Amino acid sequence: MIVSLHDRADAEFVRRELAARGLWATPLADASGKVRHFSVACVAQGRPRGGGRHEGVAGVASLPKRAPRVDAQGLVVDVGGVKVGGGAPVFSAAVRGRERGPGERAIAARVAKAGAKFLRGGAFKPRTSPYAFQGHGDEGLRWLRAAGDAHGLKVVTEAMGEVEAPRVAEWCDVVQVGSRNMQNFSLLKALGRCGRPVLLKRAMSATVEEWLLAGEYLLSHGAPGVIFCERGIRGFDDATRNLLDLGAVALLSTVYGLPVVVDPSHATGRRDLVLPLARAALAAGAAGVMIETHDDPGRALSDGPQALTPAELDQTLRALGATRGDTEEA
Ligand code: PEP
Ligand code: MN
Repeated sequence: MIVSLHDRADAEFVRRELAARGLWATPLADASGKVRHFSVACVAQGRPRGGGRHEGVAGVASLPKRAPRVDAQGLVVDVGGVKVGGGAPVFSAAVRGRERGPGERAIAARVAKAGAKFLRGGAFKPRTSPYAFQGHGDEGLRWLRAAGDAHGLKVVTEAMGEVEAPRVAEWCDVVQVGSRNMQNFSLLKALGRCGRPVLLKRAMSATVEEWLLAGEYLLSHGAPGVIFCERGIRGFDDATRNLLDLGAVALLSTVYGLPVVVDPSHATGRRDLVLPLARAALAAGAAGVMIETHDDPGRALSDGPQALTPAELDQTLRALGATRGDTEEA
């Protein structure tokens, strides 16, 4: 909202009046240094009151917001008591084990001990090729839930279609929207209605505005919170798998005040770049990082070259200053 002042208005008086109404005003001065307007960050619903009725105020104009619910969401998304954003960084490991079921449990124990709070696994996997491994489906959801519960980890998993969205949401704490589905608006609407927080991965060619508007779809259809995830966008150079857009991370987190987590594994496609980019992500304001882990990356059914072993995850989270977890089974 822009508040314009009368020529002879006492700007300090108007600023105090705004502050008394809980409005934080940034002065906008002309070339001579005289304050002519205030820009007011405002998340209130409803119409701004008309100008001229307050001493010193000539008029009030509201700037149309394209994503009002995203703007109003704030920095923190609470996932069953684990806060993403606004505090210590959270760590999440995306896991794949060789042995299904018991393998997931064993790897979850190591992930929890390393200090991660979230366990992510793809039961339904969006693969570029129809011949590539597609995930373990409903059975995978059950393994993940059991592994997360056994070690006090929140479960994150992807929903690919609106039909299975409610079923997937039932088994997890945060539903992931993958890059390839960021603008699948039917899915976003269906997921919003599931009432779970959503991890919204940025599409490989999406502008920041498109990403925020995808978040607006989720919130306007009922999602209780959206965590944005930067996973690298398409660049011209194939030296790394994608191009990690840390400018967007800093913009969303430090300027727009939104929770953003970074996926350095998909961003680079190389395990040796995970730690430096995770460090850079946290320095840029990320609320957390999520790192791909496999108990035998050489035999992974997908994305082996970017996966860390559990021992490497442990070292990486130590280097990032994670608080180590309890080793006991919950
Ligand atoms: C994933 O998270 O496993 C995945 C497929 O990532 P993305 O959607 O970022 O490619
Ligand atoms: Mn992947």
